[in-house]
Amino acid sequence: MTTIAHWLIPCLRQVQVLKQTNSLSHALLVTGADGVGQEQLAREIVKDLMCEGAQASACGQCHSCELMRADTHPDFRVLDGEASTIKVDQVRLLVKQINQKPQIGQNKVVLITHAQAMNINAANAVLKALEEPAPRTYFVLTSSQSTSLLPTIRSRCLLVSVPTPTVDDVKQWLLQFPDHQELSSLFWLTIQPFRLLSIQQQGKTKLYAGLPEQLNTMLQGAAAVSDVLKGLDSNNIGDYCNGLAAILHQCICHSTGAPLDGALHSIYSTLITRLSIQSLILRYQALQKLKSDLKKTNLNPIIQLTHELNQW
Ligand SMILES: [Zn+2]
Repeated sequence: MTTIAHWLIPCLRQVQVLKQTNSLSHALLVTGADGVGQEQLAREIVKDLMCEGAQASACGQCHSCELMRADTHPDFRVLDGEASTIKVDQVRLLVKQINQKPQIGQNKVVLITHAQAMNINAANAVLKALEEPAPRTYFVLTSSQSTSLLPTIRSRCLLVSVPTPTVDDVKQWLLQFPDHQELSSLFWLTIQPFRLLSIQQQGKTKLYAGLPEQLNTMLQGAAAVSDVLKGLDSNNIGDYCNGLAAILHQCICHSTGAPLDGALHSIYSTLITRLSIQSLILRYQALQKLKSDLKKTNLNPIIQLTHELNQW
């Protein structure tokens, strides 16, 4: 279990004060840039709302809090749009279920994460539920693209904006993880804290952490392409391509003056003496195409990637 990220705490306090003074809107929209922790904040808000106590934050002791911890609370429903579109039938079923009497505590909560994934019919079904609010029922939505939501949904929600943390904030937050040094070495890939956490939880830290050094060794001629690609298979080659694309992207941006992560200095120096900026852009595009083709074709992905890297 991770502790709540410190840049989320002021937003949480703001909602807790409204809860305690009984002035909280029945609909909340938690927004912010990708990976800054909207979902974590929303989950904390939901815990507070579900608690049977009248205090600002969840007591952690009551029956509701216990059920939330076990993820078995009957008055709490979630729809997650991260992996696929949220459809109208899902929303209708959930609204029907939540409109029944509370089974345990006082409040009922619907959490819709990555709410931009609602199709238009699903969004209209949510809007209908917001327009006719059932008593003691809360809707908590999260989105990194809140402007793509229906304006009529946005206008009915209390907006909770998560600030983007600084690199130092993220470094400090990562200290709670045993492999924080490896995670901090991935800033060339992303500084989105919750993307880093997701990489760690999927067991991909080592794959990404080793990439700049391996690539550098290959570019210096101290390792063959086949050595570098050893250990890759259909499960992780997409991630490897993501990493390579991120490196090229950073190098292209650096050529126009953007700062470059220290881990990529040597790679940049080598690539820029071999390839023009135009060629770097072409390699970047070829890599993106290769990645999307991996899902469609039966061609051996290692052969395709070997062919690509031979041109670097
Ligand atoms: Zn409680």
